[in-house]
Amino acid sequence: MKNKAIGIDLGGTETKIGLVNGDGDILKKEIISTDVEDGFRKVILKVGMTVLEMLKKENISKNEILGIGIGSPGSVDRNTGIVLFSPNFPDWQYAPLTEYLEEITNIDTFVENDANAFALGEWAFGKHRRCKNIIGLTLGTGVGGGVIINDQLLVGANGFASELGHVIVQPEGPLCGCGSHGCIESYASAPNIVRQAKEYFKKFPDSYIFSLGKITAKDVFDAAKKGESVATLVLEKVTTILAIAISNYIHIFNPEYVIIGGGVSKAGSILLDPIVEKTPRYLWPSFKNTFNIELSNLIEDAGIKGSASIVYFRNK
Ligand SMILES: [Zn+2]
Repeated sequence: MKNKAIGIDLGGTETKIGLVNGDGDILKKEIISTDVEDGFRKVILKVGMTVLEMLKKENISKNEILGIGIGSPGSVDRNTGIVLFSPNFPDWQYAPLTEYLEEITNIDTFVENDANAFALGEWAFGKHRRCKNIIGLTLGTGVGGGVIINDQLLVGANGFASELGHVIVQPEGPLCGCGSHGCIESYASAPNIVRQAKEYFKKFPDSYIFSLGKITAKDVFDAAKKGESVATLVLEKVTTILAIAISNYIHIFNPEYVIIGGGVSKAGSILLDPIVEKTPRYLWPSFKNTFNIELSNLIEDAGIKGSASIVYFRNK
């Protein structure tokens, strides 16, 4: 009986591969180095061989596998399974990802953009599983988003919909990696949280945070927890921008849940609480009590579970 899926979380340094059942339990997990410099074919050959070895070791027949799901960073054609462009994989231009993996494994393979996979993971395996209207927002190296409305993933005409991180909130704001100014990502991604802290150096050179040397986003949140002034100012800005952004999403999509994930979300309540408090300020009163904003509880395994959920979603 086909009741299990393989979820592949493709990262720039390591790739996580998991065998996942229909309840979202990870039955087996392997982590391999991605070795991007080896090029597309070698990377995928290694991933495919790891999948086959895992099934052999676990004594699981391919007949039990519904499919392989991959959450891929970058622009992905979800219908053809071709990666058009991916910033961490320079030679992956028009790379036939699903076709090549199917050739190696002989298992049906499906791909989605990794932020869409995150939203699907919340829909399939999160704490509000099978809730019909969910927005997933991932705060990491970049800011990504996925929108599920009425149990359907919003993909748009070309599959590029819900780039929630590139909604512009301040037209005069900082330059974003995408070329625009004042996108949400230009404030709320991990590197941009660090950048904003560094911009206070001239004003507050003696601030504790500048004694740390190399600053990370985690340092900023840890310092804010202690009431450090620069970190508090940065956090105030970031959570206001996120509250404005989320109120925009709520006005457009009317979701039941907005789930925040990605590495930055590990900051916990110091990030979440101000967002929850500020978001209603920007909303019509009619939206009061129609939604909840929460942190993902899938954290470490969100990539594998999100990728596996693609398979269950495409076969539902
Ligand atoms: Zn942008």
